[in-house]
Amino acid sequence: MASRVIPVEAFDLVIFGGTGDLARRKILPGLYRRFRDGQIPPEARIVGAARTEIDDAGFRALVEAALKEFLPARLCERESVEAFLGILGYVPIDAKGEAGWPELKARMREGVVQAFYFSVGPSLFGALAERLHRHEIAGEGARIVVEKPFGHNLETARALNATLAEHFDEHQIYRIDHYLGKETVQNLMAVRFANMLFEPLWKNQYVDHVQITVAETVGVGGRGAYYDQAGAMRDMVQNHLMQLLCLIAMEPPARFEPDAVRDEKLKVIRALEPVAPGDIVRGQYRAAGGMASYRDDVENPESLTESFVAMKVKVANWRWNGTPFYLRTGKRMKARLSEIIVRFKEPPHSIFEEDTGHRANELRIRLQPNEGMDLTVTIKEPGPGGMRLVDVPLDMTFAEALGAEAADAPDAYERLIMDVIRGNQTLFMRGDEVEAAWAWTDPIIAAWEKREDAPLPYECGSTGPEEAAILLHRDGRRWGDLTP
Ligand code: NAD
Repeated sequence: MASRVIPVEAFDLVIFGGTGDLARRKILPGLYRRFRDGQIPPEARIVGAARTEIDDAGFRALVEAALKEFLPARLCERESVEAFLGILGYVPIDAKGEAGWPELKARMREGVVQAFYFSVGPSLFGALAERLHRHEIAGEGARIVVEKPFGHNLETARALNATLAEHFDEHQIYRIDHYLGKETVQNLMAVRFANMLFEPLWKNQYVDHVQITVAETVGVGGRGAYYDQAGAMRDMVQNHLMQLLCLIAMEPPARFEPDAVRDEKLKVIRALEPVAPGDIVRGQYRAAGGMASYRDDVENPESLTESFVAMKVKVANWRWNGTPFYLRTGKRMKARLSEIIVRFKEPPHSIFEEDTGHRANELRIRLQPNEGMDLTVTIKEPGPGGMRLVDVPLDMTFAEALGAEAADAPDAYERLIMDVIRGNQTLFMRGDEVEAAWAWTDPIIAAWEKREDAPLPYECGSTGPEEAAILLHRDGRRWGDLTP
């Protein structure tokens, strides 16, 4: 199956923070891949803008090194790399000062799409928006892309939204959550809304429960100072897990259009019940297997910040009443795995004598590694010996049909940046969605901060605290095992 690459129109993209980690690791290699595939036309211009004092040639050298570091050599043919470097430029700029802004203005062209990627800390968002406006750099249809974290709580998220709203309309603001750019997340919407098979069963009557797991093997790495102020609830649940929950739980939108989809997601967030303290498990990793403890990693021996959360969430509406959503995420876990499991109910009556408690149907949506989807169905075990039942997975990823192209398919960042250029906000969070998500998480975090009790310990390389398993056991359920 040949994939069709539809080129986007010419654009000017400015990457504030163009010399930073995210730009070098994800944004620029992603842009290169879209360029190499013919999706970005040679008329496009990409301008790095950051504090680093380098010129165009210095930026091109930095980007060339980043491509070599973060992409396989087979993708870095000399000709493509040189052509890509040719569309790059650089302006040293101080987000909080006046230096560099007239130079940036001089680089922008009229009559092309303009996009500004804020790949800098959120404390600079306001300064950037204000200067883009004051120096008349951002034209009428300009778009800005803002990175997470979008606020620290409801109050700061509101303030951030208000600051951006002073200079840009909501339809110009692209709040990025790279989980929404993943192929399987979009495929989830295709499976739900382009088939008759699933939607009639997609409700409390037939779905026993849903699990959403985002497990990481890494610790806090170099982000210790930031992470210790945030914790798993702010860093992962409020944004990524919440977005996944919305896509599973939302009603069918009338059209696959930005506001139609985002209206439905918002309704889900607003339908979430407050979580009872007994329905949440917080954990913090302890040293094991040669890996340091969380407190050593963040250099805070008294830290009460959670590196793991598991919770039972209820969506209080007609569709989901009685069908819980279990969420869990953590660092330094046994495996790196992000997946959603939709567990259907067992058939109401078994007609088979030898039916020794086979599992119920299960739709597993894997986000990483090995993006894909499979559906477990129960069939007769082939061969003689009676009617023995066996569960087999139906692979729904069609990886073979997509063949080698699947390996080079655009990653989440690439896809989302191309959506920015196309002006499609469907996979970006709207301001009211982000605020609603904070309004739900704030009381949970506030209760923890008030009690000041320590998160439960779990060993590095484990599945989290024992209590997380108990959270499901007491409901007669169990987590999917963390095997990629
Ligand atoms: P970084 O510290 O590596 O890079 C920051 C960039 O901002 C540098 O290019 C620096 O020159 C520039 N900068 C800093 N102060 C400036 C100023 N006053 N004026 C102009 N430029 C200035 O940070 P990063 O890891 O690339 O992260 C950037 C943003 O993306 C942050 O908001 C971060 O939370 C978010 N983010 C990063 C990652 C990641 O994997 N690195 C993932 C998700 C979100």
